[in-house]
Amino acid sequence: MSLPNRREKNLKYKNTDLNNTINLIHLLENYNIQIPSNILYDISCNLFNNTYNNKHVSLLIDYRNNNIITYGFNYYLKSDKFPFSLHSEINTINKHYRKKLTKNINKTKKILIILKISKIGVIGNSKPCQHCANYIYNNYDNLNLTKIYYSNKNNILEELTKDELNKKKFKLSAGFKRSYLDNKK
Ligand SMILES: [Zn+2]
Repeated sequence: MSLPNRREKNLKYKNTDLNNTINLIHLLENYNIQIPSNILYDISCNLFNNTYNNKHVSLLIDYRNNNIITYGFNYYLKSDKFPFSLHSEINTINKHYRKKLTKNINKTKKILIILKISKIGVIGNSKPCQHCANYIYNNYDNLNLTKIYYSNKNNILEELTKDELNKKKFKLSAGFKRSYLDNKK
């Protein structure tokens, strides 16, 4: 009985061409990172089907060869019980931990790239929020991270050092602020 589901899925993804990923391809090419076609297709579909104007995607990259090891998107989980959204950095790190990986991959140095892309593919500022900055800092050594980058509006990646993750002030996410205000009512 899986046929209707599959048909629905195809219909949902029908109008997708990879046009909304052109800026992303160019941006990452400048850093010698190439996105495999299956991941590109997934990103393109996620942008296309996004109910919101922007989507975040994070990439965990192998420092030795610039291959993408794990990637993940942000998700909105709006309910009374759990009003937070799951940010792409945290989703990607958790996804990575769930994988069964070879010792080699566990030991290799990694780069984390956090990107913001609009529905039509415009790159935006993806500086992590305070919660994510703490989370990345706390997992920095365990993941063998060596560099953190986030996209900005000028189509370049800005670097964040481990020290900056710890000492800089980052914005509180909208979801966190909302739930904080709700608790004060
Ligand atoms: Zn965040």
